[in-house]
Amino acid sequence: MKSLEQLTRPNIWSLAPYSSARNEYSGRTAHVFLDANENPYNAPFNRYPDPLQLELKKQLSKVKGVPPEYIFLGNGSDEAIDLPYRCFCQPGVDNVVAIEPTYGMYKVCADINDVEYRPVLLDNHYQITAEQLLAKCDDHTKLIWICSPNNPTGNNINRDEIVKTLTSFDGIVIIDEAYGDFSSQRSFRTELPKYPNMIVLNTFSKAWGCAAIRLGMAFASKEIISLFNKVKYPYNVNALTQQQALEALANRYEVDKWVRTLLLERNRMIEAFKLLPTCVEVYPTDANFFLAKMTDAQRIYDYLAAEGIIVRNRTRVQLCYNCLRITIGNKSENNELLAALRKY
Ligand SMILES: *Cc1c(COP(=O)(O)O)cnc(C)c1O
Repeated sequence: MKSLEQLTRPNIWSLAPYSSARNEYSGRTAHVFLDANENPYNAPFNRYPDPLQLELKKQLSKVKGVPPEYIFLGNGSDEAIDLPYRCFCQPGVDNVVAIEPTYGMYKVCADINDVEYRPVLLDNHYQITAEQLLAKCDDHTKLIWICSPNNPTGNNINRDEIVKTLTSFDGIVIIDEAYGDFSSQRSFRTELPKYPNMIVLNTFSKAWGCAAIRLGMAFASKEIISLFNKVKYPYNVNALTQQQALEALANRYEVDKWVRTLLLERNRMIEAFKLLPTCVEVYPTDANFFLAKMTDAQRIYDYLAAEGIIVRNRTRVQLCYNCLRITIGNKSENNELLAALRKY
C-alpha cells in the first residue's frame, strides 16, 4: 500500500477543518451554553447535535465489534461513498475501478467529482478475479469498489479474490456490505487490523429497517476515519437520526427476527419463482432480494406496475438482460406478487 499521505489529495491532507463550538467544548461538565448562538428555547431541538456522534458510536461498537475510533457515520452510505472521492481522488487526474454491474452510486459520485470510472465486467457467474481488477489499475487508480453481496446480482463476491485485491492493490479497497446482515459470510469489518487500505460500508437502510433516517457507516483505520471527519459537514448526522438509531440499537433483537423471517420468505419466493412459466432462471443470492431472468422482463414489469406492484427492471443493465430484481417483502406482499405472476 502507498502511504495514506501519498493517497490523499494534498489540499485535503493539509486541510485545517472547521472547528465548531461543540467541537471545541468537549468532555468537561458545563450547564450554561452560550457558545454556539443557539436559541435557549425549544429544547431539545435548539441544540446542535454531537458532531462525532460519540454515544451512538459507543452503542454501535458493541453490535458491530469495532471500536468507536474506527467508525464513521454519515448521511446514508451515500455520504460514505462520496467522501473517498473527495479525500483521495484528484478531479481530472485520478481514477477508480469497480465491478460491473453494481450499485449505481459509485459511478454517479465519480461523475460528480470528475473522476474517471473504470468498470470491470463480472463473468457469467457474476464473479471477478483480483487479477482482472488489478489489470485495470494504473498509477492514478486510488480506489477499487467491491459490493458484496452485490447489487443487483445478489451474490457474494469470492472472498479469496477480495483478500487478494486487498493485499495486492496499493490504493484503497472499499467493500460495500449493505446487505451483509443477510449474508452467510462473515463481515470484512472484523479484519480491519489486517488491512489498513480497507473501508467497509454498512447501512441502517436495509436489515435495520431505517432507510428513512439516512444513516450509513464506514469502518476503516483511525487515520482514514480522521480524514473523513475532517472533510464531512460538521453536523452531518442530525439529532433525530442519532436518537432513532439509538432506539433501533436498543431493539436490535427485532432486527435478528426480521432477518430470519426475510430469509425464510426469500427461500419460499425463489422456489415459487422457479415454478413460474415466466421465469427462466433465479440467480443465487445472499441478500434480501434476488435477481430473476424472465421470458420478457419489460412486459412483465409493465404488467406488474399496472397491478400496483413495483419491482426493479434491470433488463438494460449489462449481464442482466431480461432480469427483474425482486425485493423480499412481507408474506402478504410476496403472495400478491406471486398471485399476479401466476395469472400473467
Ligand atoms: C441500498 C444500498 C446502500 C444503502 O445506501 P444508504 O445511503 O445507506 O441508504 C448502499 N450500498 C448498496 C450497494 C445498496 O444497495
